[in-house]
Amino acid sequence: MQLLSIRTLTGQIYLRSGLHIGAGKDTVEIGGMDQPVIKNPLTGAPYIPGSSLKGKMRSLLEVGLFMGRNETRKAVLNGSPCDCGHRSCPVCVLFGAHKAPDKCDPDLGPTRLLFRDAILSAEDAKRFSEGQLPMEVKYENIINRLKGVAEHPRPLERVPAGISFDLNIAFKIFEGDEPNTLEPYLFKGLKLIEMDALGGGSSRGSGQVVFKNLMMDGEPVDLSSIKAF
Ligand SMILES: [Zn+2]
Repeated sequence: MQLLSIRTLTGQIYLRSGLHIGAGKDTVEIGGMDQPVIKNPLTGAPYIPGSSLKGKMRSLLEVGLFMGRNETRKAVLNGSPCDCGHRSCPVCVLFGAHKAPDKCDPDLGPTRLLFRDAILSAEDAKRFSEGQLPMEVKYENIINRLKGVAEHPRPLERVPAGISFDLNIAFKIFEGDEPNTLEPYLFKGLKLIEMDALGGGSSRGSGQVVFKNLMMDGEPVDLSSIKAF
């Protein structure tokens, strides 16, 4: 399959509330939190892994497209990613199939979307390097049902609201693709993330984002005109 072109989506991920993308259970910072956010090990700067964006977008699209709608997918109902491997499936085409390649449609082709890690936008990166961008420490309690008082506060580290990260997604177009049919799913995915959230603690207010200055190959993209479903 011949690669015909690559479209590039750029913009900013603006945090409307604190963001917690965990560094993993095994990571304990020296003298630090037991729930730190993921950071570049060299600079200490927080970032949003491409895998977090990709995973969230894929799962939200699958829930919207394949649960209880015309095209219910068994894998998705069981809580797993779509594994149909069909060329006609926008999710398997855009995000890759969760199935052995020889069991997929022969013309499925490679994963079309490439999500780069989102690093701090220039202004915030400068603030961070000057030591002017402290992380937020949020204490989340569990309320004792009998006493009605908060117990066991656990500190949760968050990137504070108001910070921006640079978004960069490559969209590869192969022979036989219908890019103008596939592309709207990418925009729907962004819209769904705005309607949902990124990272941990989203049911308790964390991870609300908006995408700003979105451009596809230099052309502005207006998410307000995109219908999620
Ligand atoms: Zn599929």
